[in-house]
This record gives sequence, structure tokens and C-alpha cells, in this order.
Amino acid sequence: MEHLATIDISYYKYRSFTMQIWIFLGCLGLSKNKNAQRGPIDGSLTERIMKTIVIIIVILSSLHLKAQENQSKTLISNITIISANTDSIKTQVGYVSIEGEKIVSIGDKKPEGIGNYIELDGTGKYLIPGLIDSHVHLANIAGLNGPLKKKYPEVVELYFDQLPKSYLYFGFTTLIDVNNYWPERINKILSAELRPDIYTCGEQVTVMDDFNMEMEEYSQGQRYVSNFLNDNYNANSILPDSIQASEHTPQKIVAKIREQQGICAKLVYEDEASGLAVSWEKPTASILRDLILEAQRFNMPLVLHAPSLEGHKIGLETGIQIFAHGMWNWSDDPNQFNNPNLGDEHKRALLEIAEKQIPYQLTFRTITGEKDLVTMDFLEDKNLEHVFPKQMLDLLNTEEGQWGKRKIFGRTAFLEKTNPPFYKALKADFTDDQKMWEHVFKTYKHRLNTVARFLGENDANLILGTDSPAMNMYTNPPGYNGILEMRHWADTGIPLEKIFRAATFNNAHAFHLEHLYGSVEKGSIANLLILNSNPLKTVEAYNDIEKVMIRGKLIVREQLSALAN
Ligand SMILES: [Zn+2]
Repeated sequence: MEHLATIDISYYKYRSFTMQIWIFLGCLGLSKNKNAQRGPIDGSLTERIMKTIVIIIVILSSLHLKAQENQSKTLISNITIISANTDSIKTQVGYVSIEGEKIVSIGDKKPEGIGNYIELDGTGKYLIPGLIDSHVHLANIAGLNGPLKKKYPEVVELYFDQLPKSYLYFGFTTLIDVNNYWPERINKILSAELRPDIYTCGEQVTVMDDFNMEMEEYSQGQRYVSNFLNDNYNANSILPDSIQASEHTPQKIVAKIREQQGICAKLVYEDEASGLAVSWEKPTASILRDLILEAQRFNMPLVLHAPSLEGHKIGLETGIQIFAHGMWNWSDDPNQFNNPNLGDEHKRALLEIAEKQIPYQLTFRTITGEKDLVTMDFLEDKNLEHVFPKQMLDLLNTEEGQWGKRKIFGRTAFLEKTNPPFYKALKADFTDDQKMWEHVFKTYKHRLNTVARFLGENDANLILGTDSPAMNMYTNPPGYNGILEMRHWADTGIPLEKIFRAATFNNAHAFHLEHLYGSVEKGSIANLLILNSNPLKTVEAYNDIEKVMIRGKLIVREQLSALAN
């Protein structure tokens, strides 16, 4: 048994290496003595040497296995364990033992007869399950758009090398990427030695000519070769003879997601309340129902991006399992843009979501990330040094790196062209773009605050998702964005207990992963955080991490920082 004040990732490698050296030297010593006793080399020496080598190899490998076994047992003692389950949050001071990748026991007393283990004194510290962010886009780069990615390929690689460590640095040990459109990149992240556990919804489901195809300006050819879902209930969705509708059924789409190892499906529903004149096709309620039915056969929840009242209503009507964003689009009437009050119809929809306990992601950061691009000097935040490699941070601080802000201001002209009534209503009170956009984001933030508070008061099933990084914004930094998201929740008055549940158990439960993650339970994967302060007392506890355990491997936080890598 060893008491350790700190343990680092190199410790495990070091232990097994020294063990081998010691055994090897011991064996050499043994054979040297024997040779000395027997005197000169005789006829059967070759055979004896061969035998000895075989024995040495057997001993070495068995000791090596044993050593590995011993090393992978950890006992965290006298620590305050906080864990949520279906009905409550339990807090107890006790002992948690971990063997291999799993939690094997939790109790008030030190477990007996567990053999050799590494003991970690947790006095005065808090042990919680690793955090889950159930709405990420890992292949998007926070801070680089297409042209910058092309121009600085070395920065791209540095970013992706650090990415999994950044999530771990801020305590996120499980991630769900809701749109795996770039499997090669995700696979590369999966091959990293240190990384969170990663799940995906496969490639996002699209219907022909939908919001995404329009926004991405897909050519006709690209649309038909894409893996779209044929919405045969939509009269506008007519396929040319060259396209086989049978290849685009809910069955085929779900099978494809399963081939991509997806555990969920995701679809987008945007309407006029987005502020854009609708030039795209919306999925019909009937196709959504068919897709849900098919996905349910494989226990896969349907995640719906539907940030408007209309979208929430269609989600409720069809029985989608997870809402991907808070309701930030309140009305398609431009004259209602400044109305600060949540309407009765909005409240009814949200109340139904709360009563039915439908998992709900607020994703404040989708909106406030844009707000931060425009209104504040986000790059001065010292936490970013842990997330972004130095070279990238330098690039973000240049004029070139400020493309996001320019893109937002560019929307003024776009809006003027595509939706003149909305533009007029918005622009009426402002002379300059900066002020106008500040007002727009303030309005959206107010709406999210209102929705969050309403859902919190009605005991909704909130789950933590950040949408990192939306629009490739550096204001949605990997890992740290989750801390920023939780701060928004706390600021708006959501109790810390609810934040804790949302980031742990509720999130795991929504994606049917609660047997693996989200609570400190016997049999769960040992993805754990050791915190210096109590997350039920302050939201800042989530950024006061001492150590991160990923699949039983304990890592000192500093080692995960971009400053250390
Ligand atoms: Zn998203």
C-alpha cells in the first residue's frame, strides 16, 4: 500500500518499468551465482540457458501482470462523495475503491481484503462523477473558420491534440457529439491516449432542402448524394427518378447511424421565428414520428434542434426525446421582438416539457458565445491558456482571428436583404451595428434566462449541453465552455442541486448511459473528479478541480493544461 500526495500519469509507466528492471537484475544475479557454483560451462549448458530464459520470461510476464493489477487498484479514502440518482442527491463521507476502469465499492468504512492498492487521502475534498456535456461538435474548431484552417494546418493539429485534454481539464469525462459529420477526425480524437469517453448521434439527419442544406448552400448535386431522409409526407419533396427513395427511409437512416456507432439521432427544425425568411423545407410531424419509432427500436433517443415555440410544439406533438436548445425564438412577428414577456402559449409548452420530464438542453453558450464575440474582451480570460495552445491563442488575438465578430456584423446586410420587415423593426432604434447586435444578444439572453428560470421553477429535467463550438467561435472553448454554461445557470437562479444533476445523472439517463456514467455507483466506469470545494455550495467548485480520474486513471489537473503540453 502506498500513500500518495500526488500521482501523475507517468507514475504507472514508471512503476512497471522499474519492476521489470528489478526482476531482470535479480534473475541475472541468480544465474551468475549458479554458474559460479557449477564451475566451467558443460555440455547441457545451452539447454539450461534456454530453460532459464523461458522461466525468466514466464516470471517476468506474470509479475508484470500482477504489477499492473496492483497499480490499477485505487482507494480514495475519507472523502465527501456526492452522487445523484433518480430521486435524490446523496452526500456521504466514505471510501471509494476503483479496480481497473470501474468503481468496485463505496462505503463508510475502509473495505477489507482488497489487496494492494494506491491510497489517496480525500480528507476535506469532494468526489463527484465526471461531468457530461451532451451537446458538442468535436470536429468544429473553436476559433478557426474554413480559410484559417487551410492557412494554418499546424495550428489545426495543435488544437486537436489539446482538445481532449481541455475537456478533461475542466472535468468533462463524457461527451456526446450530436453530429458526427467527420468520422476520420473523431476517430483521430478517439485514438488519443488521454481523452474523455465519446459518443455520437452519427451524422445529423437532414430532410431534402432543409435548413442546413440551405445555410450551407448545398448544390443540387450535393443534396441528392447526401444521406438525406426522404420526407414522403411533404408534397414539396419530389425526388428525381435517378434517386431511389428506398435508400432514404427512416430504416435506412437509422441503420446508417448504427453503422456509425451512433447512440442517438439528431434533426433540425427551424422556422420563421429564427428571423430568417423561410426558404427551406421543415420536416413534417409524420416523418418525425416515423423516425422516432424506428430509432426507438434500438433505444436511440431523437434529439431535436427546435429553438422556437413552433419547434417546441412539434417536438411535443411527435414525442421527441430530447430538446437540443432552449426556446430563444419567441415570435415570428418582428414587432414582438422587444416584448420581454414569456407568452401563455410558450409557458404551456414549457410546462408540458417539465411535466413529461423531457430532457432539455438550454445551451446558453450558443447565444452568449456570439454575445461575447461582439461585446467583450473574451480573450483576456486567463482560463483560455489551459484550452488553447499558445500559437493558436496568438492567432486569435490578431485581426485575422476576429473573423467571428465580422461575420456577425455581416448579418446586418443579410437580414436587410432577406427579411426587410424584421431588419426594419430591429434597426429602428439604432444607428450603429455594434449597438444593434448588443441589443439583439441581450434580448436573446433575457429570453433564455426567462425560459431557464421557468423550467427550473417547474422542476424540468434539465441536462447540460453547451453546443461547443457553435459557429466555430473561440468564445465556445472546449471544456471551459461547460463552466461558462453552468455559471449562466447559476446566475439565472437555477439551484446548484439542479446544475449538479444536469451535468451528471440526468445527462447520462437521457442518453441511456446511466449504467455507465453519471453517478458514483458500484459497477460504474471510474470517471471521477476530486474537487477542492463543494459543488452544492458554489458553481465555482467545477473549476476547482484537484484531480481527474478517467477510466480508473488518476491525473493531476495541471498535466491536462495546454500550458503543460
Ligand atoms: Zn449544436
